[in-house]
Amino acid sequence: MEELKKKAYGKINLGLDVLGKRPDGYHEVKMIMQMVSVYDELTFRKIPEPGIRIAADKEELPLNEDNLIYKAAKQMLERLGSSQGIFVTLKKNIPIAAGMAGGSTDAAATLLGLNELLEGNIPMEELLEMAVKIGADVPYCILQGTALSEGIGEVLTPLPVPPACSLLIGKPDINVSTKYVYENLQLDTLKQHPDIDGMRRAIEEQDLEGITERMENVLETVTIQRYPVIGEIKEAMLKAGALNALMSGSGPTVFGVFDSKELAEKAKKELDGIGLVKELFVAEFVNS
Ligand code: ATP
Repeated sequence: MEELKKKAYGKINLGLDVLGKRPDGYHEVKMIMQMVSVYDELTFRKIPEPGIRIAADKEELPLNEDNLIYKAAKQMLERLGSSQGIFVTLKKNIPIAAGMAGGSTDAAATLLGLNELLEGNIPMEELLEMAVKIGADVPYCILQGTALSEGIGEVLTPLPVPPACSLLIGKPDINVSTKYVYENLQLDTLKQHPDIDGMRRAIEEQDLEGITERMENVLETVTIQRYPVIGEIKEAMLKAGALNALMSGSGPTVFGVFDSKELAEKAKKELDGIGLVKELFVAEFVNS
């Protein structure tokens, strides 16, 4: 095999709690991760000259060692003791710096893709260990589907996929730095924490209402304060008929949960009309 294609799916957080800060600076989290049908397309090709080359269709992305694809490819080649040259083409559909783990999922797809292309036969357990060295969300992107994520994001418990529904995912024309959000989170002043255990039970019981009524993200306290447009998008989604709406990850992406695709499509038209978002997708949950 000379070439391999992979889809790298983005995620949303149905619930996101931060429990504390570790001495090494990482935050202890407790989140419900859900893969969604917005994905990047990656093509991995063997090339005769050594080295890792990346081409992407979005100018703002780094193509050097700062790209998470590069970090993942380098780690895989080193692990396999291979000097094979690799060319990766990225078609970026997931909004960038959006709270949808776009970079992390590309890194996970690279580990999985190159393990296959180069016939590495590295077992899942070791791939997960390699993944966390690249970033806290990368192990989840290897596992995919629905999961409870704890520790710094590397302690994963797979969950059943929630009941079918439709999503509207919108990103305003701002980029949010995850580092800024965590640095400005004031844990001691939080009035309440999301009921992540209750949401887990609701998912296990396939209770969509139980899930949507528990949608909460503590990082909204930082990001909405700094960028009120996120709150406005949430309002607009609720007004357009969403069961609930929430910011994903450190933002600024907002998702609304709708009973049906028709309702989500109708809400998309409304949101398109008021100009709060730059990128807008109707999507659904994806199973691993
Ligand atoms: P998370 O939800 O994990 O916090 P995010 O969606 O907020 O991630 P990303 O889209 O992963 O953020 O991008 C964050 C930064 O990482 C970008 O500013 C970008 O320059 C850099 N980056 C490196 N590699 C990639 C990649 N393959 N795709 C997207 N961004 C990348």
